[in-house]
Amino acid sequence: MMTSLRDLPSIEKLLQHADDLLERFGRPLTLDALRLTLDEARARIKHDGESASPSFDSILASAESHLAAWTRSSLVQVINATGVILHTNLGRAPLSESTIRAMTAAARDYSNLEFDLETGKRGSRLIHAESVLQKLLGVESALVVNNNASAVLLVLSALANKKRVVIPRSQLVEIGGGFRVPDVMKQSGAKLVEIGTTNKVRISDFKEALAEPTALVMRAHRSNFKIVGFTEEPELAKIVEAAHKAGVPVVDDLGSGALVDTAKYGLAHEPTVQESIAAGVDIVCFSGDKLLGGPQAGIIVGKKELIDRIKKHPLARAVRADKTSLAGVTATLMHYLKDEAEREIPVVRMMSLTARQVKVRAEAWREGLSQGEVAESESTVGGGSLPEESMPTFVLSLRVKSPDKFLAKLREANPPVIARTENDCVLLDPRTVLDDDALLRVLKEALRDHR
Ligand SMILES: *Cc1c(COP(=O)(O)O)cnc(C)c1O
Repeated sequence: MMTSLRDLPSIEKLLQHADDLLERFGRPLTLDALRLTLDEARARIKHDGESASPSFDSILASAESHLAAWTRSSLVQVINATGVILHTNLGRAPLSESTIRAMTAAARDYSNLEFDLETGKRGSRLIHAESVLQKLLGVESALVVNNNASAVLLVLSALANKKRVVIPRSQLVEIGGGFRVPDVMKQSGAKLVEIGTTNKVRISDFKEALAEPTALVMRAHRSNFKIVGFTEEPELAKIVEAAHKAGVPVVDDLGSGALVDTAKYGLAHEPTVQESIAAGVDIVCFSGDKLLGGPQAGIIVGKKELIDRIKKHPLARAVRADKTSLAGVTATLMHYLKDEAEREIPVVRMMSLTARQVKVRAEAWREGLSQGEVAESESTVGGGSLPEESMPTFVLSLRVKSPDKFLAKLREANPPVIARTENDCVLLDPRTVLDDDALLRVLKEALRDHR
């Protein structure tokens, strides 16, 4: 036993033969890995009664596997074969090529982020996205922040601290991840004034509440659920009219912030930013990475006088967007301005695919794999938008021995594939898959060893 322990090479000796590891992983980490590997070998000899000390090469190899594990990124690319377009757990919106280019350029180099090239003086980071939003939506002013949750918090903090905000009970929503409208209101210091009932609110409810001094009327979109049956809610334009008559501005938290009509794709109509503005809403907030199909951001558009106040609030600095996200939001918005959203923005393209187009791909997959069946199914938009809505699609349905084990195997693949099961079959929806070849490679391999 003692001989065996003494047979273990020294760290110095190992280092002399670890040039490759030193180069790839750096000295401190390599030292850590070698020490750990030696410790493990010692423990095996001492406690498990292993008689031979490991070979020089096997020590280096096991140090290398420690190093590989320590330096592997935990955030990896996955293939989304679920058919859920805005899959919150899978990072919401994949970006357009020109959005990625704009974000890369902003990251790689210096930019005129806060520098006025004309005057050579300090500029504002806000103007870059603002001018596209003005052109696209005809709004007076705009502000891009970290995400829509922070947009709502900022708007309420800047415009309604210690003041009354009127909102229907049916809109006191929870978006997910614990974001609840009443909590956000409390955090902002606004005084929540609930009106109506869970299912009904009338214009008279608004008028009654507006009789007292009020800072804002708020609307929060029911992004992720529906109220059906015995319900009533005045049109937005009517609410705006009543609020303006009382001299009170209206804020609309649209959530998803569609710029195109989703009804065009056979889905329910998701309220658009343009409609809110047309209805006379003073401030509209929406997400950058939901139906808009851009990077994470919160976009606030509307009346200049109000947005100026919002820009000046201390929280505006705390939740400001970074340069890559500003570059990305601007590039994504540009697709709408150039009327090329369907062609260029992945999430819009995925929505616009007809069932027939998806079927052609599912059939090609089946041929590529020589197995499975092409079956009718449904894709959803997800991401807390268009609840209960789905669009007809075609999936490749694989009958495998143990569907759950097969799903696990797909998750372990490189890249991991995320799919779903139904009636003991594994379903793969081409609608949300961006790289068919990569998917087929993974599937072939997984099917080969899953018999
Ligand atoms: C999604 C959503 C939010 C939060 O937006 P994030 O960009 O995820 O922060 C806020 N309000 C509504 C109505 C939403 O649907």
